[in-house]
Amino acid sequence: MSQSRVWHPFTQHALEPAIPAIVRTEGAYLHKADGTRILDAISSWWVVTHGHRHPRIVKAIETTAARLDQVIFAGFTHEPAEDLAKALVDLAPAGLDWVFYSDSGSTSVEVALKMALGYFRNIGAPRSRIVVMEHSYHGDTIGTMSVGARGVFNAAYEPLLFEVDTIPFPAAGHEQETLDRFEAVCRDRRAAALIVEPLVLGAGGMLMYPASVLTEFKRIAETSGTLLIADEVMTGWGRTGTLFACEQAQITPDILCTSKGLTGGTVPLASTLATEAIFQAHYSTDRKKTFFHSSSYTANPIACAAALANVQIWHDEPVAERIAALGMLQAARLRRFRETPVFSDCRATGTIAALDLRTSSTGYLAEIGPKLRTFFLERGLLIRPLGNVLYLLPPYCITADELDRLYDAIEEAGDCFGPKA
Ligand SMILES: *Cc1c(COP(=O)(O)O)cnc(C)c1O
Repeated sequence: MSQSRVWHPFTQHALEPAIPAIVRTEGAYLHKADGTRILDAISSWWVVTHGHRHPRIVKAIETTAARLDQVIFAGFTHEPAEDLAKALVDLAPAGLDWVFYSDSGSTSVEVALKMALGYFRNIGAPRSRIVVMEHSYHGDTIGTMSVGARGVFNAAYEPLLFEVDTIPFPAAGHEQETLDRFEAVCRDRRAAALIVEPLVLGAGGMLMYPASVLTEFKRIAETSGTLLIADEVMTGWGRTGTLFACEQAQITPDILCTSKGLTGGTVPLASTLATEAIFQAHYSTDRKKTFFHSSSYTANPIACAAALANVQIWHDEPVAERIAALGMLQAARLRRFRETPVFSDCRATGTIAALDLRTSSTGYLAEIGPKLRTFFLERGLLIRPLGNVLYLLPPYCITADELDRLYDAIEEAGDCFGPKA
């Protein structure tokens, strides 16, 4: 094969010369050309929910592609987008009545931020300060990097990032400090919005916090006129045990972003859901109040049909039961690591499990990360640690035996790379 011309994401090509090619995906597996397969324990970066290529989603893509491709969405509409919007409003926390389409998690967050600022401008009480949580991740575009944790990923772009107010991560026992800080920021800064990843901070290291904190965020935000943006790009579609993580806090955010699991992990699509109040602030005979945003592939009909098939699967198949069972299996498997000196902070929320390998090198660029990744790949397992944080975020079709393989490999990795007794 001639030399590849592909520049891969988050990849240091000087250190990763051989990149395996995948020729087929199915269920929980990626298949290589040589016939070997890799167990996808991270759902191909958190997008695959039921399993790779669920037949009903594939079918919806095929039948829709036979009659529709991209249709300009300003001034036109189509059935897949209309039906999906209704379905999303039905499924989302009550009060999120409007659906704005885009094509990635990052754009869904950009849209959310623009909706928030547009809201305040259009009601004649401009606010622009965004409050963020320490260790957050909301995407890789300039706006989403601005509201995410600063570090090695975005050091080069720092001059372009806008200022935000950061509240501490609500670590166990320190929840009240986070809430007090948020209350103070709302009061002193007249904050426009708080953006949070509900219950689980993904890229920040699978950090978990209780639903009660989210409930309090909503209460504080409401009393101070600050909007709450829930970035459910990773947590949505069952990942945390409920369809959306916000359900566990029994709250309705003002704006909710969803993308990764929206099409079950088949084709790109995102949507930003908003309340009637946010829509109404933009609803006017004054053209200046229009929501000025679009992506070329907004509401792609094939992607909307894939998402509708995903919704149908949630209706027709025992997805909730599958998720509950997977959550129990994960928790049970994690238990054996609680006692060991090799790992710390064994934690789980819904289908996500994580644990930290005790090591002197921590942080995303820790040498241990790539070493662990290679170690697992040699065993036919796709596990991609965040520095020394090992986590499993598998597709819901994974079996108990497959989970055993993963946890056995994690135990073995602990023996190889953990502190020696
Ligand atoms: C992945 C992710 C994003 C960005 O989504 P992309 O589709 O990669 O742009 C935003 N927010 C959260 C919480 C994410 O996990």
